[in-house]
Amino acid sequence: MRPSKIVCVGRNYVDHAKELGNDVPKEPLIFLKPTSSIIQSGDTIRLPKQSSRVEYEGEIGIVVGRRLTQAKDIEAAGAVAKIFAANDVTARDLQKSDSQWTRAKGFDTFCPIGEAVSTPIPYGELTVVTRVNGQEKQRGTGAQMVFSIPHILSYISHVMTLEPGDLVLTGTPAGVGPLNPGDEVEVEVVGVSKVRNKVAGPEESSPRAKRGVDA
Ligand code: MG
Repeated sequence: MRPSKIVCVGRNYVDHAKELGNDVPKEPLIFLKPTSSIIQSGDTIRLPKQSSRVEYEGEIGIVVGRRLTQAKDIEAAGAVAKIFAANDVTARDLQKSDSQWTRAKGFDTFCPIGEAVSTPIPYGELTVVTRVNGQEKQRGTGAQMVFSIPHILSYISHVMTLEPGDLVLTGTPAGVGPLNPGDEVEVEVVGVSKVRNKVAGPEESSPRAKRGVDA
């Protein structure tokens, strides 16, 4: 079943905030990705023609296990059902040119997610690694987050109710970079979940399709 929403946290690692020239926020910076952007491992990330700079962001993803409304951190900690590897694919040029991030974060195929798994690994010890064409580009742990996983869930729940099955992406470590046609990008939450996707350019619509003629 599709989650009711995907809530994401921006600038949740100090080194990543700095690499993009941003201050570390004083409270979590949250935004939404549409559920229509979700793809699975093995699917293709499609670079949209509106952007000339699309980047990977490897992240630790959370599946919410129970409804949270105005929850305290301790209550939120008990609501983490499963963990998955996620790629918060971002059109960096549009993120900079638009006054908000809906377009930059929301294209179809911009939310690859791996299988969600229950794990006994403590949040602080979860490690996310991103590889492009087999080469490691990012590595970060839960312990390096500016805001902890329970605090993120609590914070979000004071804005919007989190429903069972909702997805939360917890921010990306330093090392973001571009995706080009032909690349293969992999995000792994070590020992837990992996998502691997090929990258392709914009889909060329055929002349017949452009004229609205059925094939
Ligand atoms: Mg992100």
